[in-house]
Amino acid sequence: MVPGPVSVPQEILDAATANYGSADLETEYVALYKSTEKALQKIMHTCNRVVIQTGEGMLVLWSALKSVLSPGDRVLALSTGLFGYGIGGMAESIGCEVRIVDFGFNESINDFELVERAIREFKPKMITLVHCETPSGTMNDVARIGELKARHGVPLFYVDAVSGLGGSLFRTDEWQVDLCLGASQKCFSAPASLSFLSVSEKAWELAEERNYTGYDALLPFREAVKNRYFPYTPYWHGTVQLYKASERILQEGLNRVIARHEKVAAYCRKRISGMGLELFAAPDALLSPTVTAVKVPAGLSWKKLDVRLREQGVVVGGNYGCLAGRVFRVGHMGSQADPELVREAMDVLASVL
Ligand code: PLP
Repeated sequence: MVPGPVSVPQEILDAATANYGSADLETEYVALYKSTEKALQKIMHTCNRVVIQTGEGMLVLWSALKSVLSPGDRVLALSTGLFGYGIGGMAESIGCEVRIVDFGFNESINDFELVERAIREFKPKMITLVHCETPSGTMNDVARIGELKARHGVPLFYVDAVSGLGGSLFRTDEWQVDLCLGASQKCFSAPASLSFLSVSEKAWELAEERNYTGYDALLPFREAVKNRYFPYTPYWHGTVQLYKASERILQEGLNRVIARHEKVAAYCRKRISGMGLELFAAPDALLSPTVTAVKVPAGLSWKKLDVRLREQGVVVGGNYGCLAGRVFRVGHMGSQADPELVREAMDVLASVL
């Protein structure tokens, strides 16, 4: 029950047992890449191109920053947790001038005037935001930040949607998102092999200007399909599995998938409070439909809780940084957004407590 990588359904595992040719040479691979891009566009609600890269979530977080930003560029990093804060640090490490607007680790963005003032004063080239802060179990209102981005003509809006996409609504184009980042192993329930990002025309234009050429560069993907020329050998097996995973979401129906996540999350939270446990999120925070973060109860160490749960066959997520040992997480995303599975896990947790 960890918040990614989640268990991979047999159908997705079985989708890639064949031997494939060289993805660089065969037209079948290009067709598969295009179909996968199309499915991802539907899930992300975007007409923008979607680039699929080999490597898990952190890859696209870096790729998007390094491909469009130069040293000295101003980045406004909105932070409601470890990833929001960390993205600011990543931008700093590539020489950008970063201002972090920090709302604390258990809140959602709740002061939009503060954000607007920061945009006015700092005049960033890019705003960064995390859709679902996995370590905190909280969400952010991407649409409202998108409105501010558009109102103040900020060139780029970068959103880490790695743990929300495919389990909650994400309207990339309507919310003015230039770089929407996702990964295969969270709500898509595929192996941790691929990550992907939608790229707006503005982002492509700035990537052309920047002309970054590293292994994680975005730009070579701009013409990759048209020219049938990828910057490195694409991962055919991984793409087949991501395609299957996306098709499963679309076949179930995106709205139904989202409703399933919400229902399971509400059930999980109800059981958690029924056990006398406390959610990590502040009472007014937006709660994630894909992961629930819970305070480790007083008088019990995370280490001991983890050992006891494992003895009963249940593994939940621990945490990182300042949340390590203090907050644990139940991942109910993708294949794990399953009412029966969450009920069983909650029964075990209750008995262990
Ligand atoms: N962004 C968020 C919000 C995440 O939760 C994660 C992974 O937990 C990542 C990015 C990075 O993904 P990965 O660990 O697959 O590289």
